[in-house]
Amino acid sequence: MADRKPYQLVSREWKSEDTTFNVNGTIIGKDLLMIAGPCAVENKEQIFTISEFLSKNKIKFLRGGAYKPRTSPYSFQGLKTEGLVMMREAADKYNMSVVSEIMEIDKIDEFCEYVDILQVGTRNMQNYPLLRALGKVNKPILLKRGMSSTIEEWLLAAEYIVSSGNEKVILCERGIRTFENATRNTIDISAIPMVKMLSHLPIILDPSQGTGHRELVAPMSAAGIAAGSDGLIIEVHNQPDEALSDGEQSLFLDQFENLLPTLSGQAKLRNKSFDFEKNSFEKSFN
Ligand code: PEP
Ligand code: MN
Repeated sequence: MADRKPYQLVSREWKSEDTTFNVNGTIIGKDLLMIAGPCAVENKEQIFTISEFLSKNKIKFLRGGAYKPRTSPYSFQGLKTEGLVMMREAADKYNMSVVSEIMEIDKIDEFCEYVDILQVGTRNMQNYPLLRALGKVNKPILLKRGMSSTIEEWLLAAEYIVSSGNEKVILCERGIRTFENATRNTIDISAIPMVKMLSHLPIILDPSQGTGHRELVAPMSAAGIAAGSDGLIIEVHNQPDEALSDGEQSLFLDQFENLLPTLSGQAKLRNKSFDFEKNSFEKSFN
């Protein structure tokens, strides 16, 4: 008998076809899921400026941390409820969906009110009570890979959510810890096709946390799509040098805009549709 995987429901053996689900018009797992925005929501002007810019570029998913898991307790911890409210207002104004990180079970109701996709950060990938609780939620969960976790541990974390009742899980490769310290993390590009072989769940790439350097975001985004990623989550800021967190890995607005036509071409090669395709095409002829 072939080796049985320790995870069941998330495995390809259990379900051979790709899992797809619709979030506000984007078919996750089929279309290219583009999520962009600041590391953290900082104030109204910042989040509205960024949202307006992103929506002009046909980006439908706004990221932004309101509860930030910072390595130091003295670093900016996020605007909390106020941040979620601001993001919701900006997203509603510009017809976008909100993606934000949840750290605690007792915030689930609040997140369900303001957020469309709940992100589980790398530091909480093995917070099993949180994962089980998110299995009872009727919203998609973006499950980042633990920075020291194997693919098997990551898929077992996804199994916690799915076996608790929520099948809408999006995996996110965000780099792992290695001996290399020129980059913030080491992006495990091969994890993308590996996960595609092992699991039917959609998987996206975070080249921002993955590298820690804005110069590396474009090439790694391209590498992610080439490897079969179902999407990208990218940090973008209107004033990266003033950002309260992760400024050095956040793209300037024009850098982000310039990246889109290339990604669009690449997505097409992989039969992934891109909402901003038309927009960038028009731009190049105007
Ligand atoms: C983030 O997306 O800003 C973040 C903190 O992500 P990660 O959990 O991957 O470090
Ligand atoms: Mn960040």
